[in-house]
Parts: sequence; structure tokens; C-alpha cells
Amino acid sequence: MTFSWLPRTLRVRLTLWHLAMMVVVLAIYAAVVLLIVTRNASRALDARLRSDFRWAAGMAEQGPDGSLSWFEGDPWSEESPWLQVWASDGTLIYRTAVARRLPVPESEALLDRADGRIVPVASEPAPFRILGRRTVIGGDPVVVQVGRSEALMRQEVGELALVLLLGLPLSVAAAGLGGYYLARGALAPIADMTERARAITASRLGERLPIDNPNDELGRLATVFNETLGRLDSSFTQMRRFTANVSHELRTPLTAIRSVGEVALREPHDAASYRAVVESMLEEADRLSGLVDRLLSVSRADSGDRRRSRDAIDLAELADNVTAHLGVLAEEKEQALVVVRAGRPTFRGDRIVLRQALINLVDNAIKYTPAGGEIQVRVSALNGSAVLEVTDTGPGVPEQHAPYLFDRLYRVAGSSATGTGEDLHGGDGAGLGLAIARWAVEANRGRLGYEREARGSTFRITLPGDGPAATA
Ligand code: ADP
Repeated sequence: MTFSWLPRTLRVRLTLWHLAMMVVVLAIYAAVVLLIVTRNASRALDARLRSDFRWAAGMAEQGPDGSLSWFEGDPWSEESPWLQVWASDGTLIYRTAVARRLPVPESEALLDRADGRIVPVASEPAPFRILGRRTVIGGDPVVVQVGRSEALMRQEVGELALVLLLGLPLSVAAAGLGGYYLARGALAPIADMTERARAITASRLGERLPIDNPNDELGRLATVFNETLGRLDSSFTQMRRFTANVSHELRTPLTAIRSVGEVALREPHDAASYRAVVESMLEEADRLSGLVDRLLSVSRADSGDRRRSRDAIDLAELADNVTAHLGVLAEEKEQALVVVRAGRPTFRGDRIVLRQALINLVDNAIKYTPAGGEIQVRVSALNGSAVLEVTDTGPGVPEQHAPYLFDRLYRVAGSSATGTGEDLHGGDGAGLGLAIARWAVEANRGRLGYEREARGSTFRITLPGDGPAATA
């Protein structure tokens, strides 16, 4: 049987389950009550039959002619006994008025089994119970039979069954109604939350669900939902900023190429001038492809499609390698670029990725430190962690910019590379260097942080110790 016409809401399902449970429990309860009451009534009937027999055996009156009789009382009263007394040869000696009114033909056949047992006999309007037993009254052996109809007992049990049967649907209906309103009340906040959640669109991600009680189930659900909204909101904001910045970054070199070309075509020039124009265009194209390369490596970092190797890296050697690689840039700006070793930590991780991070940090330090400054790469071990610090004597990053420093395409407004104005890795100041560095460090399970110094900046890479691999 299907209930496809019912609305499949949680409220209806809860109510139906509640009702089904009620019906089962009440039906079991009613059956048990009926069973117990029937058994007790039956036992009471048997007990009355035995007491009838005791009365019959003890209260016989013998007339002068030896005939037996009993005081029957009102033959129409409930308590007037059904009694038959048989002589040992099977002749009926005595029969009360009730026994005459309600004859039980089978009673004669029961004479042979008159051993004190109670025997049920089919009869109209209700079954009958007969207790027959041999005894001696007035010196003669006789069989005494007492009997009672089950009619009264059946009537009582029937009335009880009727009450239970009528009460069951009534109580189920009352419980169903109560359950429905209870479920509706309990689930109302969910409907409210659904409406509010529906109203929150991509353009209104700043809104939150109200939380009445943060400790109940709905409060916890709303809290988790709000946290998810918060994360979505910040990813959306970041994505919007990133898209805006990328468009801007791509447009600048394209505009340059276009305007150089337009100017060159406006009037005829000699071959040398055209060559200069083409070179300038190529330079811009280089800048563009450098930028695209960096964007690609950021998006690859996002998708995590590079398998990390686990090389044993000597960090002091890595620092030497990077400073040797970038030394020429520092030399051009007459900067001192030195490696300071405090211990000789090693680390297990991806050397190529980690080297990229260090190159970007040292490259920035050279770029943003004025000519004649000093750049230090410090290698040390601290509480089992390996630490690489790049400290410079440049202008530092203003405090309000520090939280966004590692965001993609974020640049400090007004900051500019000093000196050559060109970095080694394609595209001056696209704002990707630190984002890539942070990804590279985190891919190696490390942390990259920034600290403003009294004079200059320190970028610190902290790598987790790999047990004996990181040693001071
Ligand atoms: P960019 O390609 O512009 O250098 P980065 O992501 O490497 O992008 O750096 C982001 C911004 O952080 C830079 O625009 C610069 O203003 C600032 N910055 C980075 N390193 C330093 C540093 N060593 N000293 C001062 N400012 C720095």
C-alpha cells in the first residue's frame, strides 16, 4: 500500500510513525489486559463452583422418608444454585429449580467421570461448567453435580473488550493530533531557517541565519551553516579580487603592445625604428607569458596535481644555492647578501618547491631593499623545527597590508621595486611571488610568516622537524 497522496514532509512522516507505534503498543496492551481479566474471571467462576459443591455436600436436608432437599432461595436470583443429585444406580434424586429451567442433557453422560473435575459443556446461550463428584449424604452414596453458566463472565469480558476497542481509535486519534502539532511546533524553526537560507544568494553572502540557542540541534546546524557561509563569502571575495586583478594585469601589457603598434603605424619609419617597436612588443609579450606562467603554477598548486618528493634537504646548502643564484641581482644594487648558519638543520621534503619559495623571498628582499642595503638568509633549528629566515633592511610592509600580503595578486599600493625594477621570474610585481611562496611552504607541511622589523622585514619559513632529520 502506498501513501503517495500524503505530503512527504518530515512532519507527516513523524506523525505517521508516532501513530503506528501507538497502535501497536495500545493493541498489545489491550490484548494483555483482556487475557488477564478473562483468566481471573474464569478462575473466580471455578472457585464459586467449588464453593457451590461444599454448600451442596454440607447443607442437605433429609426428610423423614429419607428424601433429600436443599434450601434454594429465590430460583430467579443469580445466587440460586444449579444442582443435580444422582443415586449410584444413575437415577436422578434431586434437581433444583434453576437446573430444571436450564437443563444440560450432557450432564448424565458425565456421571462416570464425577471425580471432582470441572468440565465445560457446550450450551445455549453460553457454555456451561459442571463440577461432579461422588459423596455420601445421609449414609447413601450419591453423585452431586453443581453447575454455572459462563454467560455473566462472558458478558463482563465482552463489555471490557468493547471499551478497549472503542478507546483505542479515540486515544490513537488524540495522540495523532497531539503528535502532529508537536512535530509542527518542533519543526517550525527549520521551515524558518529554510526560508532565510533561500533568501541568501551569492550577492548577499554577508547575511547569516539567526541562532536562538546555539546549544540545541538547530542552533548547531545554524552555526555550521553560518560558518560555511563565512568561508563561501571570503572565497567569493577573494575570487572577485583575483579576477579583477588578473584582468587588470593582463590588460596593461596588452594596452602597451597595442599603443606601441598604433603609434608605429601612424607614420612611416625606418627599419631601425620598426625593430625597436617589435622589440618593445616582444618585451611586453614576454611579460605577459611570464604572468600567465605564474598564474598557471598558482592554479596547479590549487589543484595539487604535482607529486611531492621527499628529498633529504640540507637547508644551509639550499640557502647557499639560492643566494648564489640571485647574487648577481644583489651585486647590481650593491647589496650585501649573506647566509648565517645557526646549526645545520636538514629537512625531508620537495627540494624544487621549497627552493622556489626561498627564491621568491630573497628576490623580493633584493627588489624592495634600497641599493646598499643588507639581506640575510638565516638557517637555524628551533625546538626540533627547521627555520629559514630572510631579513632585509628595506622599507618593510605597512601594518594594514600585512594580513593580505600572501593573497594572490596583492600588492602594497605605492610600493615599488627599487633599482632594476625587474625580477628574475617573469613579470615585475604581479603580486604572485608571496602567494606562490606560501603555497610552496605549505606543500612542505611548513608555515610562512611575516614580521616587521625595526628596520626592514623578516619572512620566516618554519618547517616541521622530521625526528632525527632536523638536527641542530
Ligand atoms: P610582487 O610580485 O609584487 O613582488 P609579491 O607577492 O612577491 O608580489 O609581494 C607582494 C607585495 O608585498 C609586494 O607588492 C610588496 O609591496 C610587498 N613585499 C614583498 N616582499 C617585501 C619586502 N621584502 N619588503 C617590503 N615589501 C615587500
